[in-house]
Amino acid sequence: MQARPSPDVVVVGGGLAGLTAAAALASRGVRVRVFEARPVLGGRASSFTDPVTGERVDNGQHLMLGCYSETFAFLERIGARSSVRVETTLEVGMVDRAGRSSVLRCPALPSPLHLLAGLARWDAVGWADRLSALAVARPLRQAQRFLRTGEGSLPASPGETVSAWLERHRQSARLREMLWEPLALAALNQDAREAAAPVFVRVLAQMFGPDPRDSAIAVPLLPLTELYAEPAQRYIEARGGHVSTSAPARVRISGGRVEAVEAGGERWTPAAVVVAVPWFALDDTLVGETGPVSSVLAAARAMRPSPIVTANLWFDRPVMEVASVGLPGRAFQWVFDKRQVFGDHASHLSCVSSGAAALVTRSNEELAAQARDELAAALPAVAGAKVLRAVVVRERRATFSLAPGEPARPSTRTEIPGLLLAGDWTGTGLPATIEGAVLSGHRAAEELY
Ligand SMILES: Cc1cc2nc3c(=O)[nH]c(=O)nc-3n(C[C@H](O)[C@H](O)[C@H](O)COP(=O)(O)OP(=O)(O)OC[C@H]3O[C@@H](n4cnc5c(N)ncnc54)[C@H](O)[C@@H]3O)c2cc1C
Repeated sequence: MQARPSPDVVVVGGGLAGLTAAAALASRGVRVRVFEARPVLGGRASSFTDPVTGERVDNGQHLMLGCYSETFAFLERIGARSSVRVETTLEVGMVDRAGRSSVLRCPALPSPLHLLAGLARWDAVGWADRLSALAVARPLRQAQRFLRTGEGSLPASPGETVSAWLERHRQSARLREMLWEPLALAALNQDAREAAAPVFVRVLAQMFGPDPRDSAIAVPLLPLTELYAEPAQRYIEARGGHVSTSAPARVRISGGRVEAVEAGGERWTPAAVVVAVPWFALDDTLVGETGPVSSVLAAARAMRPSPIVTANLWFDRPVMEVASVGLPGRAFQWVFDKRQVFGDHASHLSCVSSGAAALVTRSNEELAAQARDELAAALPAVAGAKVLRAVVVRERRATFSLAPGEPARPSTRTEIPGLLLAGDWTGTGLPATIEGAVLSGHRAAEELY
């Protein structure tokens, strides 16, 4: 292989973290080259075209929250901010296991008053449940102070699960079932009985910050690839960078430094490399004398994944009155009507199962049937409707486990000069989310320039 003039920075991985880092670097005049192994950009947040309907389908419904400040900054930078609709405050429709519908609607009051006012009017829970919510106000204030000033600590111990934390704060069984556990499952992609409490408390502290909009749901109005991956590529390339797909890269390390990046049959010798691959791809990406990063590699090998299964269903008629409904206590805990979000060129429902370890080995037919049956029991219009098509997407390594005892997450800098890490799995303190990935990308870019 022959050496040739190299960009200033190579970014390995064209998911959210890599594209964020590359866009931030390009904005500072850095010549950047992105290598993405797959034919499409976006990694775990991407879209594909369904061959039968021709519709763009996401690899899974992605929601954001009003508190995703790094994400909104990234979208603003690449000109995509208007493709996300942020509600004014937290509002979610739910159908409980008995089939009763309700809407948790928080008024535009300062948080956490808005949550308490929302709970007061939410008829899915009783007065004892509402009162029990008051017991989390103090730990949340403590967590917010910690995040703002660094004083004190997060009021949760690393060995404690979310369930144990909720019990310790005397949250009633009904409030746990209808509010906290669905929220934990959606935010952490892991059952509250398994996930560790500190990261959950951190999410709550950010969601229920002073601005009621922090907890509002933000919905992408376009399929993910169009939402951010293509605009990010255009942004990077308009500033002299280059993005290659179907280009798996290897970072060769020797003598305690990066010797070269090998991709597409060529060798590159940039001043710095941002490795923005997921934890499960790190081993194949870093090659050669990897001794200085052996502890990071060992941690990445030890991280356990948590799956998400999505059943996309096309019905012969519209079956939902609202764009999304929470279905707590079911295998598929949320359903989204993509027509109401994307417009008339989409006509499928996206049924999401988070923390789906028990589902992932079942057949497509079984999963589609289960999603359909659960919908039919919750939404009257589904009972008389016919499923025309079903496409099941399994993301076996959607996120990493947040259970107590998981390995420590690495920092952006490594022991090798000029070698930086980005990705949702790095030490952001956040769960595996869009915001965590984008934050890590911004951090990598800031470390460099
Ligand atoms: C189904 C699903 C639903 C989700 N829902 C939400 C949600 O509602 N809200 C939310 O905030 N988050 C959600 N997430 C999480 C979010 O998608 C991820 O946290 C985020 O996309 C991770 O981005 P990343 O850049 O860190 O990693 P990735 O997206 O994994 O990107 C890494 C990229 O590196 C590439 N790569 C690997 N090895 C190499 C190599 N050697 N050379 C070149 N390229 C390489 C991969 O192909 C990949 O494209 C969801 C995830 C899934 C799977």
